Amino acid sequence: MSVDTKKLHVLLQWYKKELGDDIIAVLVVDRDGLVMDSIGGSEKSIGEEIIGGISALVEPVLIRIRNEFSSGNFGTGTFDTESYRLIFCEAGPNAIFVTILKNIAMIDPVFPYAYLAAEKIARIFDGRTVSPVIPKIISNNKSQNIERKIGEIQKLTIKSGEYAYKLVLGGAGGVGKTSMVHRFVENSFETDYKSTIGTSIMKKECNFKEFESKVRFVIWDLAGQAQFKRVRQSYLANAEAGLLIFDVTKRESYEEIKSWHDEIKNASTNISLILIGNKIDLIDERVVSMEDGEKLAKQLGLAYIETSAKTGENIIDAFRILALQLIKKYIIAERI
Ligand code: GDP
Ligand code: MG
Repeated sequence: MSVDTKKLHVLLQWYKKELGDDIIAVLVVDRDGLVMDSIGGSEKSIGEEIIGGISALVEPVLIRIRNEFSSGNFGTGTFDTESYRLIFCEAGPNAIFVTILKNIAMIDPVFPYAYLAAEKIARIFDGRTVSPVIPKIISNNKSQNIERKIGEIQKLTIKSGEYAYKLVLGGAGGVGKTSMVHRFVENSFETDYKSTIGTSIMKKECNFKEFESKVRFVIWDLAGQAQFKRVRQSYLANAEAGLLIFDVTKRESYEEIKSWHDEIKNASTNISLILIGNKIDLIDERVVSMEDGEKLAKQLGLAYIETSAKTGENIIDAFRILALQLIKKYIIAERI
């Protein structure tokens, strides 16, 4: 299938232009949530970092759609989170058109445009001729077809157990942040990870049978050269969970924790954190004791755990302790 990707992008630009400031982003995704095209609120294509955050939002809805509408069409759905309103429109058999609005935005005036754009996107995917221009829709002149479709809007509500929590990593370079995540996500360890550019985003869930809950993490790992303060702001923002990591063989990394803690708390006030002393396999090189770690954790009001990304010791436990904090905070609270 050859898709006219240029036309698709022009269409998204028109759509964004018609709808103006309420738009945070628009995406065209396939049924697995893979982003095929996107455009951000500020005209340009959205960066990898924002995509990661948005796909964390979009994914649970897509899973829901897949489960509940596997037999056929779901048409259109709307979905609200604390910060956003999302409109999902089926765009032919393969694509879903997602509009992300500010949470104060009204859905009704946007909906006819979303529906029209989704129809055009379906045509582009079919290879049929279509103009990428989105015309102004005068509200008292809506086509009956659109009104009928509005009647079919599905309201989806997502329980917090189905959310993916953004998890960020704080701590000096070289303490083992990337190794720890790879160990957790893939249960593997390599002695030298290449310093990647920008942010890599990985997903992993923790299951808790005893609470009938699962916690899904979207883990954002910022690579070495991107450690500038300016970049860190958006990296650290809107995170629900974080690991504060130091290296038990490097005292400076321990002393830096306090400032990492403050920076993370400033960016995401409500974040759940855990303090980790890593590289405990290097017994002879150790300079920070367990008591030091516990003392610092107590000062910061956090749980403390010691790990080795090399042997895998306590790595899964560290993530599970954090997941439990989130269950307590969001999931159990919701049931009461
Ligand atoms: P980051 O900069 O915090 O992401 O750190 P990396 O994960 O890139 O790790 C830096 C170096 O420390 C790499 O050479 C890793 O192989 C090594 N490393 C990470 N964790 C451990 C550990 O638990 N034990 C040992 N011995 N080495 C580790
Ligand atoms: Mg790293």
